[in-house]
Amino acid sequence: MTDKTEDLRSYAGEERIRKGTQAGMPPVDPATRRDRGDGPFDRLILRGATIIDGTGAPPISPADIVIEGGRIAAIEKVGLPRKLSPDSRRPAKGDREIDCRGKYVTPGFVDCHAHIGVPYHALSGPMAPADYVYKLWLAHGVTTVREMGCFNGLGWTLDQKAKAASGEIAAPRILAYPYFPAVNDMLKTIHTPAQAREWLRAVKARGADGIKFFGAPPAIMQAALDECRELGLRSGCHHAQQAVTRMNSLTTARWGLTSQEHYYGLGEALFENRLIQDYSPEYDYGDEYFRFSFAGQTFKQAAAPGSAKWNAVMDEYLELGFSFVPTFTIYDANRDLMRTRRADWHDAYTYASLWTFYQPDGGGHGSYWHRWSTTNEVEWKQNYRLWMQFINEFKNRGGRVATGSDSGFIFQTFGFGFIRELELLQEAGFTPLEVLRSATIQGAELLDVADEVGSIEVGKAADLLVHDQNPLADFKLLYATGAMRLNQETNKVEWPRILRHTIKGGIVYDVEELLADVRDMVAESRRASPELPRP
Ligand SMILES: [Zn+2]
Repeated sequence: MTDKTEDLRSYAGEERIRKGTQAGMPPVDPATRRDRGDGPFDRLILRGATIIDGTGAPPISPADIVIEGGRIAAIEKVGLPRKLSPDSRRPAKGDREIDCRGKYVTPGFVDCHAHIGVPYHALSGPMAPADYVYKLWLAHGVTTVREMGCFNGLGWTLDQKAKAASGEIAAPRILAYPYFPAVNDMLKTIHTPAQAREWLRAVKARGADGIKFFGAPPAIMQAALDECRELGLRSGCHHAQQAVTRMNSLTTARWGLTSQEHYYGLGEALFENRLIQDYSPEYDYGDEYFRFSFAGQTFKQAAAPGSAKWNAVMDEYLELGFSFVPTFTIYDANRDLMRTRRADWHDAYTYASLWTFYQPDGGGHGSYWHRWSTTNEVEWKQNYRLWMQFINEFKNRGGRVATGSDSGFIFQTFGFGFIRELELLQEAGFTPLEVLRSATIQGAELLDVADEVGSIEVGKAADLLVHDQNPLADFKLLYATGAMRLNQETNKVEWPRILRHTIKGGIVYDVEELLADVRDMVAESRRASPELPRP
């Protein structure tokens, strides 16, 4: 074995964090122990629940769900909605029981585009620890995440993945998709197709579940996707503007890409009178104002909904079995900056350095607000209409659309951004049941973990959410802040929220405890750094 091969075997997937650490951007503090959650139990029973199983099937009640050692052992229908069977005809007592009469149980949510913090944040002050991110996710029902890029390093991510799987830390299940280092504007250590294949074999051997691409020269990308297929690695791509002129997401879909992330690559696949987006002369990709304002013009330069080109592109994505992870939420600020900047949760839940990172200082990724205008917002609203129309139609014709949040940028705080994505999928035209399916079983299928999680079925892991009310009636009630409601009896404003317990692998988390921990961490982050701006 050559030294170079040795090096690749230990460092493939660490390229970016090694470089970042040298530049003052070290990894986020990992979680080391679990200080919340009870279980798993020998026998945990959820009694008398209304089940919404995640497959798209409508609610059904009442049922007892029996969980043994972290796995769903039985689901028994126990009578009629207003008439429970006598105890003698119900499953025998457990060592922990949760009374779910009047409550709704859904699968845990799958966030298909997530970052466990981002080392970039270090430039804005002391970084939030991984515990902050994990607790916000669990408190919003997220029990599985696809770590898109492993920006803290592949080894770091695999360590957290193992500790999450064993219940040693309070965290969702983690799938590790390291960053493929072959783009000029971020980090490029792969220069040939042969190097791409070698690197992929190395990260696969280290334990990667899939690959996050940002583009690459086409010959390298094609070889890499071919090697992914050989190795059984799934893939997602953010088709960055620096790469998309040579291959849009229909090209990469043909080469075997599993999913397109965000919107990049789709608008370009729909171009019919051009191959390259029309930019104005002052455009500079290095200035994020240009990057993000011109991205709001892609769809209007593309084929119209219902046109022959639109239909042909749609047909081909469907035939290829392609998936979209739109992450509508992460661009929400582009169409209404004030709404996103003043969101109800920043006061109590946005960590000091994260808030600082969001501010327009000309440096941080996604902080391009130096001259955001009415025109920019209107263009983005129009862009969303076309983009959402495509995604909704793709879903209606049988295509898979998974839910991803990409939080940690652009005024989107962890957990809250995921719930916002549920709202935006509904805005795109999904019914609430379709939204839930996207957020559960379709995400699990995309990540190739649907035999384990994503729906409520006997034999699967017990990743379950216990809600006080039907979440399909109003996704806003899933925000940790709750949603503003007038109590008609008292004539007082209240902020109810409905997620009571998040159960992951049979470990029962009390959402209120998780949120109290997060509020403490945020308050402490402000005490420790009084010089940082605050919401
Ligand atoms: Zn991302």
